[in-house]
Amino acid sequence: MSSAVGPSALRELAARFGPRLERSVPLAPLTTFRIGGPADFFLRVHDADQLAEAVRAARELELPYFLLGSGANILVGDRGFRGLVIHNAAGGIRFLDDMRVQAESGVLVFHDLIDATVARGLGGLHHFVGIPSTVGGAIWQNLHFLSPAPARERTVFIEEVVESCTLLTQENEIRTVGLDYLRFGYDYSILHDRDDIVLDVVFRLDLQPVEDLKRVMMENLAWRDEKHPDLWLYPCAGSIFKKIEGVGAGRLIDQCGLKGHVHGNAQIFHKHANIIVNIGGATAADVRALIELAQTTVERELGYRLETEIGMIGEF
Ligand SMILES: Cc1cc2nc3c(=O)[nH]c(=O)nc-3n(C[C@H](O)[C@H](O)[C@H](O)COP(=O)(O)OP(=O)(O)OC[C@H]3O[C@@H](n4cnc5c(N)ncnc54)[C@H](O)[C@@H]3O)c2cc1C
Repeated sequence: MSSAVGPSALRELAARFGPRLERSVPLAPLTTFRIGGPADFFLRVHDADQLAEAVRAARELELPYFLLGSGANILVGDRGFRGLVIHNAAGGIRFLDDMRVQAESGVLVFHDLIDATVARGLGGLHHFVGIPSTVGGAIWQNLHFLSPAPARERTVFIEEVVESCTLLTQENEIRTVGLDYLRFGYDYSILHDRDDIVLDVVFRLDLQPVEDLKRVMMENLAWRDEKHPDLWLYPCAGSIFKKIEGVGAGRLIDQCGLKGHVHGNAQIFHKHANIIVNIGGATAADVRALIELAQTTVERELGYRLETEIGMIGEF
């Protein structure tokens, strides 16, 4: 297993970042799956300037790099990542006026941003209570939640409260963009197709009574408790497969009798078949085996092709 970082790039990286540059850092604890080998090189950034500097350095030195948020939508391979992992802890939150808040991209939507905005009676982000995500990860995937309360039953997307986004573009320019540029869709933003990095986001929220916001949050959390794994007991990455309109990937897997199926130390979650959980010491290979089993069985028995929603990072 040889590193993708040559000696001269490594010297340059060490000269620029000094002791902040770490080596052979295990990635499993930085993911909600608790799975994955080490990053050869690792740098934690604490504000948007440091984030832009780290990405620019990796690009100049032509190093493979990966920007890690809260690691809630990825599976890291057992052999880890050959290159530089940049861990985004840029956590600044600034209220611009009564309705608008600017958050750096490493801010945790839950709890930090939701707590700060709800405390001021600002609604919009509160729907996403209980979902692990940084602001950057939420823009990448257009974070969404199917509101369970009968009166409000609809999918709420984070794009609804995004006013603008400051990016380090793939051309290395700092640029503020709006919704037209971001081209949000279901589980999609332009970030899937361009190597742009979100530095910060301005959200425009609604003034609402705090009790109303808290009631919705309690309802959403109760729904999650019933359907979703408790991450402490069952580390996972949320839904594994993309939505299939009108059918539901989980329902198809369930129809094939795979709910609860175990491979190694990974399990197709017994309460929700579109989630794979780590039942203690699972490897990425265990998870991949279950993914392949679900895909081949559903295609053979029901004729649907399941596509993964989560990112596969590093070497497997
Ligand atoms: C228990 C559980 C429940 C979940 N429920 C939901 C749900 O209801 N709805 C939902 O939508 N999702 C859900 N998810 C998935 C996950 O929470 C979201 O996809 C979340 O937005 C991931 O954010 P992250 O910071 O963890 O991103 P990561 O997993 O760290 O990264 C994901 C991708 O985003 C990229 N990225 C991260 N930050 C930036 C940035 N600043 N600029 C550019 N690219 C960036 C990464 O490079 C990577 O490609 C759930 C996950 C779990 C574990």
